[in-house]
Amino acid sequence: MPSQASRVVVVGGGAAGFFGAIACAESSRDQLEITILEGSSEVLQKVRISGGGRCNVTHDQDDPRIFSQFYPRGSSALIGPLHRWRQSDTVAWFSAHGVDLTAESDGRMFPVTNRSSTVVDCLQQTASNLGITVTTGMGVRGIGIHSGEGFKITTRDKGELSADAVLIATGGVRNNLARAPVDSIQHALEPPVPSLFTFRIDDPELVDLAGISVASATMRVPERGLTVNGPVLITHWGLSGPAVLRMSAWGARELEACGYCFELQVDWSGGSESEASLRSKFSHQRQSHGARRVNNSSILSVVPRRLWGRLVRMAGIPEDILWSGLSKAQITALCRFVLGETMQVDGKSMNKEEFVTCGGVALQDVDLTTMESRRVPGIYFAGEVLDIDGLTGGFNFQSAWTTGRIAGASIAAGLQG
Ligand SMILES: Cc1cc2nc3c(=O)[nH]c(=O)nc-3n(C[C@H](O)[C@H](O)[C@H](O)COP(=O)(O)OP(=O)(O)OC[C@H]3O[C@@H](n4cnc5c(N)ncnc54)[C@H](O)[C@@H]3O)c2cc1C
Repeated sequence: MPSQASRVVVVGGGAAGFFGAIACAESSRDQLEITILEGSSEVLQKVRISGGGRCNVTHDQDDPRIFSQFYPRGSSALIGPLHRWRQSDTVAWFSAHGVDLTAESDGRMFPVTNRSSTVVDCLQQTASNLGITVTTGMGVRGIGIHSGEGFKITTRDKGELSADAVLIATGGVRNNLARAPVDSIQHALEPPVPSLFTFRIDDPELVDLAGISVASATMRVPERGLTVNGPVLITHWGLSGPAVLRMSAWGARELEACGYCFELQVDWSGGSESEASLRSKFSHQRQSHGARRVNNSSILSVVPRRLWGRLVRMAGIPEDILWSGLSKAQITALCRFVLGETMQVDGKSMNKEEFVTCGGVALQDVDLTTMESRRVPGIYFAGEVLDIDGLTGGFNFQSAWTTGRIAGASIAAGLQG
């Protein structure tokens, strides 16, 4: 009688779950019965909506040490895994499966088709070719451990499945369904909080400037010791842009601790000016363009004219004041607003482009060479369910591909004995 195929259950049909299941099938010499159980009605939903419908698959940087610096959580832990499944392995794998990727000037990599559906179709087609079963509407509530006999998986409709190995790839554990399988095996979780959000600032004057972007501003939250530099976008609800997202990621825990209400200082010169250099620019302007109005002649190329007008108003300088008529007190006030405007952030807003969870399965309980649990042999983890999250730019998907690949290949190796 033929021996029964080993059964692998992948909980979660997202990027990490699909890549893990495919890696398991591609790495195995033996016939394995691989099933993906997806709780919602549709698999790969985040891949589909990612990158504004274009899917930023990865980032154009193959050095694992440099790549790992883009992860506020999991940075050093990821160096090893990123050597085992590199960014270039992802690019090569997708190319070998018919999806060529191309890099944009900022390093983000997208399918040449510019459509996320290309990536979704590739993963679904590959899984189907490999005989992987995909079942939707099958939320997993718990995993029972039966010593020596594998695992019993309980689904939301009270059905039961058995498995010899389980890959948990349920995504960010802010959601109860995503954390249920992890809780059921009593794995420690780093508390989940949001990352990659934008700042809400209630200031009617800012609303009028919505759409203005500043190529390089320095933002500080002194009470939390946070500083970032980069492009900032003024929106109708507050501030957004790469620097804001970076601060929300690096400061995810600190900003949650203060309820997203904090004082933000913005140096609109992006650190390019000191008070002395700014004063000397002002004095030069008084001499050479003394007859110009202060409010409509920004003397910093990095500060757009309309934003400059706001800073002049905030400094209490009347509209009709000319450079030649600027008093010492007005110069001091203008310096203060250009180099350290203080804004009161009173909440966060969702970044529609990308948001992720900070926190998840504690990394000290996972063997990152295999992604196997150190507490429960036979259980593996991949993707955002882990306490790993990156900045925007393709880093979050790369960690899903890397951890999914390693987990799937390790499961296949483990079941082959
Ligand atoms: C709007 C948006 C855009 C993004 N764009 C990008 C981008 O362009 N580039 C990038 O790198 N990152 C992007 N991200 C982040 C990226 O999508 C995630 O980091 C990535 O999808 C994580 O993959 P995952 O498989 O671990 O989790 P998920 O993609 O969240 O998949 C987990 C799956 O598990 C299922 N599930 C959960 N619990 C259970 C359960 N108990 N039983 C069964 N199934 C369950 C869920 O329904 C889900 O389908 C974006 C995120 C968002 C929200």
